[in-house]
Amino acid sequence: MPDLAPYAVTEANSRGRLHPEPPPAARSEFQRDRDRIVHSTAFRRLEYKTQVFVNHEGDLFRTRLTHTIEVAQIARSIARALRVNEDLAEAIALSHDLGHTPFGHAGQDALNACMRDHGGFEHNLQSLRIVEVLEERYGAFDGLNLCYETREGILKHCSPRNARRLGELGERFLNGTQPSLEAQICNLADEIAYNNHDVDDGLRSGLIELEQLEGVPLWSRHLAEVRRAYPAIAGRRLIHETVRRIINSLAVDLIETTRANIAAAGAASLDDVRRAPPLAAFSAQMHAEAKQLKHFLHVHLYQHYQVLRMTSKARRIITDLFNAFMDDPRLLPPQYQAMARDNKPRAIADYVAGMTDRYAIREHRRLFAVGEI
Ligand code: MG
Repeated sequence: MPDLAPYAVTEANSRGRLHPEPPPAARSEFQRDRDRIVHSTAFRRLEYKTQVFVNHEGDLFRTRLTHTIEVAQIARSIARALRVNEDLAEAIALSHDLGHTPFGHAGQDALNACMRDHGGFEHNLQSLRIVEVLEERYGAFDGLNLCYETREGILKHCSPRNARRLGELGERFLNGTQPSLEAQICNLADEIAYNNHDVDDGLRSGLIELEQLEGVPLWSRHLAEVRRAYPAIAGRRLIHETVRRIINSLAVDLIETTRANIAAAGAASLDDVRRAPPLAAFSAQMHAEAKQLKHFLHVHLYQHYQVLRMTSKARRIITDLFNAFMDDPRLLPPQYQAMARDNKPRAIADYVAGMTDRYAIREHRRLFAVGEI
């Protein structure tokens, strides 16, 4: 990779893989990580998992997969502009949501409640579990045997209790150090992506109206600019032209602020990045404006009664499935029955979390609807 900044993650300063492997022949170690993620089963499942709108509600809404691709695009652009490791940023972005349950956050909350007395369920930790344990693709090891820095980036947050059992990977949650800049960038790229595509999807669905967004400065400022530049613009084109300008302004602000933070901290190595306060950040003004947009979405989209109806249905499906398998693990597919002999609740959580929306709906029907097979 050409001309990386001294604080970037490189193969030379990487802590490497858990199971040593010969170096790749024609690509970098972090390209290899990215490729392994793209070829994983969990990655393909993202296509049929909910972001906000359930997959069958419409063909044009974001799914976990298209959300993930948008995060990867934004993260790569920012990583390249800051001359850090674009391949690593891409690998982290492509794997950041692998552990999500069906039905988005409603599914995760329901599964976490089911697992309350069994160590809990957290989608971020589950993403790590997928790449470390659950993927079965290689003869020599479980999981994908990704580089330390990729796994570090996947683990965005972690309770002290979980951090203590994660060894090296959990240390930073106990000693207050930071992950790589590439990981920090992905975290904020995720935010840029969902804030913007949720506005777009919210407007497309009709659950939010253009007029409601007038009180959100980040939106109204860019909308006014678009109308000034194109007085006759309307409809979908008006929304898309506004959304793309907001994404761009957030990304540019993030790049400039992060660059200034790196300079102010005098960060000249990866170790400096880890020891400094978080360096990837929006300016104070942009941070406040992004927060207003997020708050708007929370109130007007995520709490919309039509979304909440789906949330309540999702909770019931996940809870019913979990309880049915807990009562009688013989209902599980053979592979999970074997896993359940070691740890029944965890095996059931793995099975349920891995389901796509429509698989979970079908499985629920198979178990509970009389007359279904
Ligand atoms: Mg995400």
